[in-house]
Amino acid sequence: MFDRIAILDWSAAGTPKTGKDSIWLAVADASGVRSENIPTRMQAEQRLMALMGEGDRLLIGVDFSLSLPAAALDRLGMDAFGLWQHLAAHHSDTDKNASNYRDIAADLNQRLEGDGPFWGNGTKADIPHLPRTKPASALPEWRACEEVARANGLNPKSCWQLAGAGSVGAQSLTGMPMIHRLREDGATVWPFDPISRVTVAEVYPSILSAEVRAHLTRHPDMVPDQAQVELLAQALWAMNAGGTLPPLFEVEPSQEGHILGLNHQLAVRAAVPTQTLPPRLRNDCFAMPQGVNWVPVDAALSKLKDALHPIKPIQNIQSHQAQGRILAADAVARRSNPPRPNSAVDGYGFAHAATGEGPQKLPLVQGRAAAGQPFAGTVPHGAAVRILTGAILPDGVDTVVLEEDCALDGASVIFDAPVKPRANTRKAGEDVEAGQTAIRSGHILRAPDIALLSALGIAEVQVYQPLRVGVLSTGDEIIARPDMDALPHQIFDANRPMLLSLLNGWGYAPVDLGHCKDDPKLIERTLNKADVDVILTSGGASAGDEDHVSHLLRTKGTLSSWRIALKPGRPLALAMWNGTPVFGLPGNPVAALVCALVFARPALSLMAGSGWAEPIGFTVPAAFEKRKKAGRREYLRARLNDQGLAEVFKSEGSGRISGLSWADGLVELPDEAAEITHGTPVKYIPYAMLGLR
Ligand code: AMP
Ligand code: MG
Repeated sequence: MFDRIAILDWSAAGTPKTGKDSIWLAVADASGVRSENIPTRMQAEQRLMALMGEGDRLLIGVDFSLSLPAAALDRLGMDAFGLWQHLAAHHSDTDKNASNYRDIAADLNQRLEGDGPFWGNGTKADIPHLPRTKPASALPEWRACEEVARANGLNPKSCWQLAGAGSVGAQSLTGMPMIHRLREDGATVWPFDPISRVTVAEVYPSILSAEVRAHLTRHPDMVPDQAQVELLAQALWAMNAGGTLPPLFEVEPSQEGHILGLNHQLAVRAAVPTQTLPPRLRNDCFAMPQGVNWVPVDAALSKLKDALHPIKPIQNIQSHQAQGRILAADAVARRSNPPRPNSAVDGYGFAHAATGEGPQKLPLVQGRAAAGQPFAGTVPHGAAVRILTGAILPDGVDTVVLEEDCALDGASVIFDAPVKPRANTRKAGEDVEAGQTAIRSGHILRAPDIALLSALGIAEVQVYQPLRVGVLSTGDEIIARPDMDALPHQIFDANRPMLLSLLNGWGYAPVDLGHCKDDPKLIERTLNKADVDVILTSGGASAGDEDHVSHLLRTKGTLSSWRIALKPGRPLALAMWNGTPVFGLPGNPVAALVCALVFARPALSLMAGSGWAEPIGFTVPAAFEKRKKAGRREYLRARLNDQGLAEVFKSEGSGRISGLSWADGLVELPDEAAEITHGTPVKYIPYAMLGLR
């Protein structure tokens, strides 16, 4: 249908402006998408005229409304063409963006009678016939297409609103004059005119708000308006190229106009180019200066933190199925909670202004307001209505008195005043307002979060795809499973089931890569076959003869052996294997667990999208005695006794797996020397805080 698609994000700014909430124009065609930020409306109009002149078949989507509700057009005695002509004749704008649109609105208000319908004045001076706040207008607030948008969960702004965030009214009054001129230059305007070489249509980029948010988490330097026009131009271009654009133009003709893509939101959203894959980790990301000195734990951690970033693509899922998943874009409330002001108690509602001091007696109106059964009429000033918890406050009611504080006398309710204004009521949006960020990107969703998402009408969320983590055990002495026979020189694999279960508790997708004998060929084949994002190995990670994992990673991957000043723990082998990060954990189960908790846990959390996970511990008195030298950090298997003191396992032997099971957490002793006696404060980190379940 078209050779190019241009999407224009318009602005009614009163001075030249760039950046957020200014004019952005994106053009998509076979060669890709380009966007530009244009400081003034005059320049933007010149750009569009120039585009039109290039001879291609062009669709120009504009994000302001191209008409008014039909009832208003009737009252004005104009059709849409007449409206554009009228505005073009009366609108003046300058190369400094000084527009007279408020005067035009005031003039239209007079022609439309009554207060408004246009309202909002962002200037200091009062303008006759232009109310500052929303007046009661006899004219409808919405065009039919906007009613459809609202029914679809979108949140269009009213064409009457001239001030405040996203006030479409001002954009329409400054944009429609240009539409008239584009049309005089040969463009046609859908759906008022037939499609032609240059067709202008109204679009609503917020159809892609979820996609835009996800895009912005990848491109934090981008302005939202820019992301919005680029994605919409690209999506419509993709549909154009794929032949699926024509159905979008099939609508009933109407002088109110239409929004292109409405009723086809899913198709438009699906046409947004698939998220570019996250950047890969660099092959040398684990490089660590190889000195003689041991690296302190904190230095190793901060090195790891710098080296890693989220590596998973994003997907959309239903909120109610998102438990344990990591948000990849801020979740924004589609609806306020509560959506309307309502009563917090069972009682009687009235207008506070009608009450004074002392005993009050208010006549009761017929009927009642209950949750889900709103009171239909208005409660007259000085009267009261029976109201139940959760019921919307009827018109005329702003305050509720508790039923326990009332007496009934025939058809009246009696209570003592003064009562606080708005007593026992909940404000609309007092919890969360529509448009507010409810939950931040990176948060791991739990049951209460799912309640919040549902309450705010957020049916779908963007989450990172689950991190797939492979676990491999190595060692000639290891027997893969405890139900197999073991000879005296053999031991059952304890690390692999431990690590798999740990990963499961952390919410990742564990992948069992099995056990390999100390055979480099076999280990290599296994690593190559693994279809995972990260690999944890245990055993063979030191630099000795039998340490085949580190040997293999050193010769065929990029290994960096980190000599970390940590007990328990031997050198931690960190490597990239064909682009996949490998954490070579020590073979000793105690050291393997401690290294997994201290290093793998925050690193995996970062790669999965939930950010670096700092372990949270608390200080408790020691129920043990210990003396340690300076120079390395130590973790002791510990648990709290019934007095809340930390006791430690009787042995520090790193082969003592029973101590891991005996413990409920770890005591962290600092790098510096320490002399601990009974009652010395120590840092205790419960297993639960380390995600052990
Ligand atoms: P390595 O790091 O290979 O030198 O192993 C250190 C110690 O941990 C040795 O005593 C190994 O037998 C033991 N070990 C290694 N892998 C495992 C495993 N998967 N399960 C239990 N113990 C292991
Ligand atoms: Mg070994």
